[in-house]
Amino acid sequence: MNRYAVFGDPIDHSLSPWIHEQFGRLVGIAVDYGRVRVPAGTLHAALDRFTAAGGRGANITIPLKTEALALCQRLTPRAARAGAVNTLSWDSATLVGDNTDGIGLIQDLTVNLGVAVGGRQVLLLGAGGAAQGIVGPLLDSGIAGVAIQNRTPARAAALIAHLQDPRVLVPSVGQHYDLVINATAASLTGALPSLPPAALRGAVVYDLVYGARARPFLHYAKAHGAARTIDGLGMLVEQAAESFRGWHGVRPPTAPVIAALRARGLGADH
Ligand code: NAP
Repeated sequence: MNRYAVFGDPIDHSLSPWIHEQFGRLVGIAVDYGRVRVPAGTLHAALDRFTAAGGRGANITIPLKTEALALCQRLTPRAARAGAVNTLSWDSATLVGDNTDGIGLIQDLTVNLGVAVGGRQVLLLGAGGAAQGIVGPLLDSGIAGVAIQNRTPARAAALIAHLQDPRVLVPSVGQHYDLVINATAASLTGALPSLPPAALRGAVVYDLVYGARARPFLHYAKAHGAARTIDGLGMLVEQAAESFRGWHGVRPPTAPVIAALRARGLGADH
């Protein structure tokens, strides 16, 4: 049987094996999907071992998304635009990189949650692999503008320069945002990213981190006037569904998988 896995560090907490197993069950495909801890700088050797053992597809998570990009012999247009890869597949011997984070977020926001993004002002916190993956699809979905703020300002400036779109700016004091997306890893350690004053007031606030670890930021957002707070569980399932579609040729239903995860208490209250 072809093998699939998620590569990252840390990786023990990853729900991807369970999610892909559920997708397989729902569409009648037997799926062998594991998790592999791969410290930064060692992805090449790990992928060689994986393909030798029957590996045909991989998801890539923190901190390996740009390292994966550099190893690919071919990129999908959305991965090239993002400058980050979260999905790998082997087309014969050619390693192909894709990025499904952006479509996963847009699908969760617009289809699962009914959040309209067209014409909205967005504040994007973070400029790492996840932020790189979602900003292009956000622009394509018709947002009015996106301000990017990052702990390391030079990284945000580089992303803004790379995008070359007049709708992409640095945050300005007093600007109202309809949608605030926390694409930093801050919630993984219980930290709060810094924000422009009053940025959360009246906004829909989405943390890419899911479950209990998203709660401190989402509670902070509620306490500072957010209209609605959402964790990244739906995006996790939607980006996985898009990877699954690329590997197996069929997009699995996502609603029952999201519902099952929330029933297991793995989502944050929202
Ligand atoms: P990454 O490439 O390592 O980038 C991390 C980002 O977080 C950088 O912008 C970094 O800022 C910032 N950051 C880290 N710690 C911070 C802190 N204490 N305060 C403020 N900013 C901080 O990681 P990534 O791939 O972009 O992933 C980011 C997060 O998104 C992770 O938590 C990941 O689990 C989550 N994610 C979720 C999904 C989903 O499907 N739900 C998909 C993708 C990613 P500097 O540049 O200053 O270091």
